[in-house]
Amino acid sequence: MDTRERGGPAVVLHGGTVRTLDAARPTAAAVVVRGDRIAAVLDDARDAPAGASRVDLQGGCLLPGFTDAHVHFPAWALARRELQLQDAASLAEAVDRIARAAAGTPPGTWLRGRGWRRERWGADDEPTRATLDAVSAGVPVALRAHDGHSLWLNSAGLAWAGGDLDTRGGVVERDAAGEPTGILREEAAWRFEARAEPGATETLRAVRDALPAAAAAGVVAIHDKDGGRHAPELFAALRDEGALPLRVWQSLPAERLAGGAEPDLHGGLLRIGYVKAFMDGTLGSRTARLLDGTGVEITSRAALEEIVRRASAAGFAVAVHAIGDLANREALDAFEATREHWQPRGLRPRIEHAQCVHPDDVPRFARLGVAASVQYTHATSDRDVADRLWGERADHAYPYRSLRAAGAVLAGGSDAPIEELDPLAGIRAGVLRDWHPEQAVTLDEALVATCVNPAILCGDGRRRGKLLPGYLADLVVLDRDPYVDLEGAQVVATMVGGSWVWNAPPWD
Ligand SMILES: [Zn+2]
Repeated sequence: MDTRERGGPAVVLHGGTVRTLDAARPTAAAVVVRGDRIAAVLDDARDAPAGASRVDLQGGCLLPGFTDAHVHFPAWALARRELQLQDAASLAEAVDRIARAAAGTPPGTWLRGRGWRRERWGADDEPTRATLDAVSAGVPVALRAHDGHSLWLNSAGLAWAGGDLDTRGGVVERDAAGEPTGILREEAAWRFEARAEPGATETLRAVRDALPAAAAAGVVAIHDKDGGRHAPELFAALRDEGALPLRVWQSLPAERLAGGAEPDLHGGLLRIGYVKAFMDGTLGSRTARLLDGTGVEITSRAALEEIVRRASAAGFAVAVHAIGDLANREALDAFEATREHWQPRGLRPRIEHAQCVHPDDVPRFARLGVAASVQYTHATSDRDVADRLWGERADHAYPYRSLRAAGAVLAGGSDAPIEELDPLAGIRAGVLRDWHPEQAVTLDEALVATCVNPAILCGDGRRRGKLLPGYLADLVVLDRDPYVDLEGAQVVATMVGGSWVWNAPPWD
């Protein structure tokens, strides 16, 4: 493409370290942006076109913008609005915060919260609806526990649910008199949540409010996993009103294939191009499917093969959640068995999480061309549970270095709202990992996984993800070079398609 054809004034970014993430030319002195593209990458800022406006990086670092390759964006956006109880050290402290939040909750709306940890409170600190009723004055209250597997409701919340929450696989806790205490567990909690899910209007508002926080974290693109929460429609509405400051690669739940879903690869900032399926559950809830025969099978190997065949025929790539070593093996088996369906079409399959991978299966990712979509922060926050529940298996858990050494393509994500939507935090967790540090990745690898590979996975590898002439100007400015000080590096500003979407210069 001849970028000289593109109009508009040129902007030259100079005065810091430019890291292109292109192996042929890793660093440069300046980048010239014109329109939505990078017009030139310069070894001497004095070669910038006459009349170009200048942005001084002030000793900072210019990088391709970050992609969060695994995020439940609408769920994260909604979670940000909820009362955060993660660090409430006692029942009294939690109730104090709930009381203040309830006082500010408009009539007719829910007070939702998350993150309480009964296991960290005193022996008598039992959460009950009575405790909530005393401070919530009729406002319906629903508070999700930190692990997401329990819900704490007040009487108004329970009354709204209408009583029939008893279900197979669920627990409605009751007191000595047989009355619900306000605590729901597992299936009973899911059943309640499915009924009380916020509507499209509330979700749209939450997503709109959350977008600046993503831009502030240097995010120029997301691979969203919330295809079921009206996500495609919400993102389309925001794009149409010019309010979408990032690129969205949207998944759809595999069930949508039955409804004749088709990919939309021409939607500008929003493209819908892959389906999401689940092989198993999670580590924390002990539903990860392991080679020792434990865990829960959500999709069988044969069923995944069928999904891949149908998805490929419709033009979708497949991303499948697999945590346990058996789940990962069967996902790889299914991709291998269906290779003739996806490979000639250029579709890029991926395994989401790849948390526990048997050493025999590690080389198969590269050999088959299956990407590992990983979340470095999981290895940090799961370490104690992994050691406890997986024992020796933890020796081959979160095997990022092994996967890289075998040539696998890694893509980095957050899994927000499970973890913070913060690519720099993810990169730090991957590089500075001290639990099984032999599985840490290099900063080069972490940046490639965060900037370059996600663009490749959505078919944008030749127009995004590196700082090269002709590529889209999706950039992030850091206050310092992360190769010098990774722990201290902060995002200063973010540009998508040549427009500043966070903290436009001048900076001082
Ligand atoms: Zn997820």
